[in-house]
Amino acid sequence: RTVYVNGEYLPETEAKVSIFDRGFLMADGVYEVTSVLGGKLIDFDGHAVRLERSLRALEMASPVTKDALLEIHRELVRLNGIDEGMIYLQITRGAPGDRDFAFPDPGRTPATVVLFTQNKPGLANNPVAKKGIKIISIDDIRWGRRDIKTVQLLYPSMGKMMAKKAGADDAWMVEDGFVTEGTSNNAYIVKGNKIITRGLSHDILHGITRAAVLRFAREAQMEVEERNFTLEEAREADEAFVTSASTFVMPVVEIDSARIGTGAPGRVAPRLREIYLEESLKTAI
Ligand code: PLP
Repeated sequence: RTVYVNGEYLPETEAKVSIFDRGFLMADGVYEVTSVLGGKLIDFDGHAVRLERSLRALEMASPVTKDALLEIHRELVRLNGIDEGMIYLQITRGAPGDRDFAFPDPGRTPATVVLFTQNKPGLANNPVAKKGIKIISIDDIRWGRRDIKTVQLLYPSMGKMMAKKAGADDAWMVEDGFVTEGTSNNAYIVKGNKIITRGLSHDILHGITRAAVLRFAREAQMEVEERNFTLEEAREADEAFVTSASTFVMPVVEIDSARIGTGAPGRVAPRLREIYLEESLKTAI
């Protein structure tokens, strides 16, 4: 596969970054994952805007313009012949010549920009979406700026491992009695025709898929309530689901071994998945 690193397109085996890179030493960097369907980028604009926001929050200057970024995404899709899959983008604060907690002078230490593709044929028709996934709940012990999409992903990785060991697919995180989000997705419950999801704050990542799904839901006259919900409420809900750029809308059929609704995907989540795929393809570039 051909990857991109700091202005160059290279075979993945030849791409290199410094051992002093602050992404490697301190998780000092941000990322985005954009999905590709039919060779086109889904919601590129949303991801580009959030990237800017993450960089600004960490006092990092943007090392590439939005247009250049779009060009790199498209070139990688072309070079690697991606029809369905994802593009991973990471920008770290670069590699000063030594390890130091203080931020290096951006004039002397350029950011490190890395992009690579992940080929996932069948992403849109993922059979898992027909069955739904099982999740467990875990404490949310992450830092207080989860709205910044940093590469600090150790706890979410541990959460996935806890889920795996428990025979589940993923985990929802809980803080002060309320669900925050999934390890790599936003969390929702459905009661009757109402879609309930936590409101935006520093407590969760502002999902690009979340924004689109809520917009499409409202356009389809579905009721949306942005508020906190508990695990107990989730267990008694008619449906539950998660959203992310790589899974779109994914039904959740079990929480901590308790069935949600009938234990199979309900009416709302599969419909939202359909609407999301159809609508987001219309604006794919
Ligand atoms: N929440 C977390 C913690 C995530 O890591 C992600 C995606 O990686 C999301 C939510 C979903 O965001 P998006 O829809 O932009 O992929």
